[in-house]
Amino acid sequence: MSSIIQLLPDHVANQIAAGEVVQRPASVVKELLENAIDAKANDVKLIVKDAGKTLIQVIDNGVGMSVTDARLCFERHATSKIRLAEDLFDLSTKGFRGEALASIAAIAHVELKTKQDQEELGHHIVIEGSKFISQDVAVLPKGTSFLVKNLFFNIPARRNFLKSETVEMRHIVDEFQRVALAHPNIYFTLIHNGSEMFNLPASNYRQRIVNLLGGKTNEKLVPVTEDTEIVKISGFVGKPEYAKKSRGEQFFFVNDRFIKSGYLHHAIMNAYDGLLKEGNQPSYFLYLQVPPNTIDINIHPTKTEIKFDDEQALYAILRSAIKHSLGQFNVAPVLDFER
Ligand code: ADP
Ligand code: MG
Repeated sequence: MSSIIQLLPDHVANQIAAGEVVQRPASVVKELLENAIDAKANDVKLIVKDAGKTLIQVIDNGVGMSVTDARLCFERHATSKIRLAEDLFDLSTKGFRGEALASIAAIAHVELKTKQDQEELGHHIVIEGSKFISQDVAVLPKGTSFLVKNLFFNIPARRNFLKSETVEMRHIVDEFQRVALAHPNIYFTLIHNGSEMFNLPASNYRQRIVNLLGGKTNEKLVPVTEDTEIVKISGFVGKPEYAKKSRGEQFFFVNDRFIKSGYLHHAIMNAYDGLLKEGNQPSYFLYLQVPPNTIDINIHPTKTEIKFDDEQALYAILRSAIKHSLGQFNVAPVLDFER
């Protein structure tokens, strides 16, 4: 009897995984920015050309990698962030799957430059479509730079499926904003086609929001705080009179990670009960800190969904914290209108 089952070669497995992890240039941006944060950088530059279709580069001043790690980081399931399955429930890093770099390197041309503080020289490695091209030493600053060129060069179907530059750039800016809002203590810059789109010096949450979204945002913001055993909440919600038809400025972070949750969005809308005109959407920038062992992030490769142990309790706490803030911070004219 002959057998017909074969193990897929690594480069094929990587390309398959890439299909999930890398949907478009913005997915690469997200993965590289998150790696820079996990590397404890406090200065992160994002450089893109042609909305990421030709070039995406992230330069950080983080811890860098040893020569061994610089080679290993492109392997699938290679991660410095977890060791045991239990670690999944006590995560303090953005990454843990160890598949982003392997996926990206499977479908693009990647150039890595990295140097650790204590090392004299850094390392420069080139990989194209999972194929090792070259490795040498180089004089480099402390930190890491990943340069990703010609995304989807070997998957024409994916490349052709990319949207216009305006749309792809919108996705990149969205990812950039989410990361920048979650980490106001880090200096972020975004350069597109040679011109600076964002320059965000390290600051606090309020100032970061204003720097990103414009000076007018400041007067819209009502602070929200709550501190319970289940969750610590901080951040801001928009005054009801500034609510708009679009859902543009709604940001929800759990343990410094941007998260989408229809359920908790509902809790927020519920707190505004009677304060909003029909169909209007408030802005919000809400930061939840929960014990890492009460959530599961390993639901989807892009990690924008989360499973909470006690979603109903969170709903109630969030709703009442926002209701309290809206009442306290003088949204009186609109409260009058409610009567
Ligand atoms: P994960 O982030 O899930 O661990 P990645 O494929 O994104 O997987 O990265 C693999 C490993 O490469 C990381 O665990 C980390 O050790 C290393 N690495 C990636 N990016 C950087 C960086 N910017 N600075 C230092 N080390 C990095
Ligand atoms: Mg990662």
